[in-house]
Amino acid sequence: MSKVAHYLQEHLTGEVMTSVDARTYFATDASVFSVTPGVIAYPKNESDVRKTARFAWQLAERGRILPITARGSGTDQSGAAIGSGIILAYPAHMNHVLELDSKSGLVLVQPGLNFGKLQQALATHGRFLPPAPASLEYSTIGGAIANNAGGAKSIKYGLVGNYVQSLRVVLANGEVIETGQLGKRELGRKLGLSSFEGEIYRALDNLLEENNHLLGKLKLPVTKNVAGYNLAAIKNKTGFDLTPLFVGSQGTLGLITEATLQTEVNNSATSLLVGFFDDIAKAHQALLQLRELGDPPSSLEMVDDQLLILVDTLNPSQLKDIVSSPFPKVVLLVEFDDNSEHARKHLTKKAAKIFEHLAVSHEVATELSAKEKLWKIREAAATLMTHSDHGLKAVPITTGGIVPLQKYEEFLKGLQQLASRNHLEAAVWGHAGDANLQLQPYLDIGQIGDRQKAFRLMDEYYNLVMDLGGSTSGEQGDGRLRAPYLAKLYGPEIYELFQKVKQIFDPYGILNPGVKINVESGDIKPLLRHEYSLGAWYEHMPRS
Ligand SMILES: Cc1cc2nc3c(=O)[nH]c(=O)nc-3n(C[C@H](O)[C@H](O)[C@H](O)COP(=O)(O)OP(=O)(O)OC[C@H]3O[C@@H](n4cnc5c(N)ncnc54)[C@H](O)[C@@H]3O)c2cc1C
Repeated sequence: MSKVAHYLQEHLTGEVMTSVDARTYFATDASVFSVTPGVIAYPKNESDVRKTARFAWQLAERGRILPITARGSGTDQSGAAIGSGIILAYPAHMNHVLELDSKSGLVLVQPGLNFGKLQQALATHGRFLPPAPASLEYSTIGGAIANNAGGAKSIKYGLVGNYVQSLRVVLANGEVIETGQLGKRELGRKLGLSSFEGEIYRALDNLLEENNHLLGKLKLPVTKNVAGYNLAAIKNKTGFDLTPLFVGSQGTLGLITEATLQTEVNNSATSLLVGFFDDIAKAHQALLQLRELGDPPSSLEMVDDQLLILVDTLNPSQLKDIVSSPFPKVVLLVEFDDNSEHARKHLTKKAAKIFEHLAVSHEVATELSAKEKLWKIREAAATLMTHSDHGLKAVPITTGGIVPLQKYEEFLKGLQQLASRNHLEAAVWGHAGDANLQLQPYLDIGQIGDRQKAFRLMDEYYNLVMDLGGSTSGEQGDGRLRAPYLAKLYGPEIYELFQKVKQIFDPYGILNPGVKINVESGDIKPLLRHEYSLGAWYEHMPRS
């Protein structure tokens, strides 16, 4: 065992491992990349996290960089949950609901808590956390916060970050801070601290002050954006708050040890309207009008005809009696979850009228079994994601992109052209109401030709997104995959600001280096795996 592992074993109460098995397991997440860690530590408590950070900081002061990567369940598809130094694996011990106040809806959790288990705990109190990722059953709340995860309900409720009220965070040097909304006087106190925390507040406050004129450039014309650092949300009318900066920072600025979250009252009664479009332009018009409804739908999802064709070929019985050939060009699924039955009915009627005016065939479902049947259309995406044919696997390299809703039609057509230009059997699906669409091409990344193709496809997909005025990360974070596009997305001035923020929080580059910031495409090419598998998650698959 290495000296590092020995030190950690002596000083942490949680376990430390360096076995080949453990290191091989943690060398991958759900992305196409691989980095083998040196040591895996399973922190039992915040003190273990502090000691690990303090140790790495002291080594860095002596010139040795030992990276720390916080890890939830490792379902990250951007390569943000792997690293070459210490993996801090939270779910083993730091996985509890610490407090739940059903009156206020506030819940205090440890980051390694499984998202699905949190939903169960909340459900017993009639509450839920709406922006749940599709991977909720096998991922953690810490990962969701660090990625600022979203899901099908984000069109109405936004991203996980909207629900994070405050955090406890271990800084790069091992100090612990609590984030939250600070008034003028509290901010003044923080600015006066002689600790690393004080240094951070002073440096960040100055940076924001000096660059206030640039912050507007962070606002892209899209409905969700998790690319870069959320600098625009730190200073607001009522004060100063570091919470939104740590949210979505993918473990590159600090290590989260506790989170206080707000939740919503749960309502399982929903209505579902499904439209079958023979024309992409009409689907686009419908989307624009649906978003103009007083109350937004709680989900507005889509699949394209290619998805239906591919699923029908792989499993002809899967969508039997639900949708049949010749398949519509686009299927839109529109859900309303208003607490009031009257409001739900009213909105569903208004939405159905939009479809009628466009002469689009549609169905409405309010009974659970009918809704479940129709949702299978969207869930069929999972069949494509988990299908493999010899070495060919659906690889998550062209995901997360979002464009202005006005560009939905161009985006969808552009993605379909991208697929045909590259002779790919690829379908498009996603959060239509946000114009947040993806495709997952079938590639054999063990083959040299497909390895090169993978990077070409990434460039084509993310450049298309940027050309249409969108963001490379509408959800799922920059990680390693999308980080090389960040400078182009925001331009050099904003990118430099991000670099300065990273420098303020992590001057030695200990926290998840190679993720989000200071990454070029040449850095990630050697990390591409030679095979892709979701093997670790098959117990919970399929998920769309
Ligand atoms: C099939 C599939 C579907 C998915 N669907 C969605 C989706 O709908 N929406 C979506 O947003 N994502 C989705 N994802 C991506 C991913 O599952 C989610 O973002 C999830 O929330 C990550 O949680 P995790 O526990 O697996 O985190 P990990 O993958 O372990 O980590 C994610 C990031 O969080 C950081 N991190 C973890 N814990 C901490 C901590 N305590 N402190 C600081 N940083 C920390 C890690 O360093 C890493 O950067 C999907 C993935 C798969 C495989």
